[in-house]
Amino acid sequence: MATTARPGRTEAIPRTMRAMVLHEPGRPLELSELPVPEPAAGEVLVRVRACGLCRTDLHVVDGELADPKLPLVPGHQVVGDVVAAGPRAGRFAVGERVGVPWLGRTCGECRFCRSDRENLCDRPRFTGYGIDGGFAELTVADERFCFPISAEYPDLNAAPLLCAGLIGYRSLRMAGDAERLGLYGFGAAAHIVLQLARHEGRHVFAFTRAGDEDAQSLAVGLGAEWAGDSQAPPPEPLDAAIVFAPVGELVPAALAAVEKGGIVVCGGIHMSDIPSFPYRLLWEERVVRSVANLTRRDGEEFFALAPQVPVRTEVTSMPLAQAGEALERLRAGEVRGALVLIP
Ligand SMILES: [Zn+2]
Ligand SMILES: [Zn+2]
Repeated sequence: MATTARPGRTEAIPRTMRAMVLHEPGRPLELSELPVPEPAAGEVLVRVRACGLCRTDLHVVDGELADPKLPLVPGHQVVGDVVAAGPRAGRFAVGERVGVPWLGRTCGECRFCRSDRENLCDRPRFTGYGIDGGFAELTVADERFCFPISAEYPDLNAAPLLCAGLIGYRSLRMAGDAERLGLYGFGAAAHIVLQLARHEGRHVFAFTRAGDEDAQSLAVGLGAEWAGDSQAPPPEPLDAAIVFAPVGELVPAALAAVEKGGIVVCGGIHMSDIPSFPYRLLWEERVVRSVANLTRRDGEEFFALAPQVPVRTEVTSMPLAQAGEALERLRAGEVRGALVLIP
């Protein structure tokens, strides 16, 4: 895969950088001047060009995920240029463009890591949660977990691929070979998954917040067969559904919409409680499962596939200093496609 280098862009590394910092969950992010981190062994220092926003960032900032690093620089959909490498880091050249995803590091030793399930590692470090992420001008990352970014994608459009795309891709794989696929919650991830699913010849049904005509028209424009309100029944039964919205009520709704043997995949890291539901919704071998994190193999497969589709991302950009405002827009669902911060 072609990657973009920006030769001649080698730059003097500043001593300090602007970053949006979370000091305590539930408090607004603060624009701060921080020392530029030193890349440790195996790490690269990355000049951030764009960083996507994800629902997970909201869960971290709101305190819905336990024990974040504090103070923390959130952000785990980073696209940037390598500006320096730490000791024994040689995978990327200075000037090369990389993406930094949610999976920041794994232990490599636990039973999950040893059985190709590093997404379930017992001692993982997640970008923008357990280690500082991309709501900053610069960041460091373990080079083994970075991805080269295909030249087809401008920085802004590449950013949402790093989580919405990757987790979306893994969720789609977990949905099996479903011909008729429902997507609940039509934001950054769903608008990418829809394109992958259409590319594979599937029929897609998009479920949005009631009356969200903007999201519904985006879905239909990208090839959805039907788009409607999330509590409405689809025009025909589904073979699988992926729930991206963090709304527990959607799980029984999706189960009611899938055919015998259907699969409901929960793609988010956090969800409100799932209300109790009658066993008949699960009966006939219907399955409910979640998707956790990503493996590097997911990333390799997805980044090989995306330019072939080609996946196009619909993005709205906002300046880094407005990260707080951007998170509120995401919370309110006032975003078409994906939101991306520019330092
Ligand atoms: Zn994410
Ligand atoms: Zn592990």
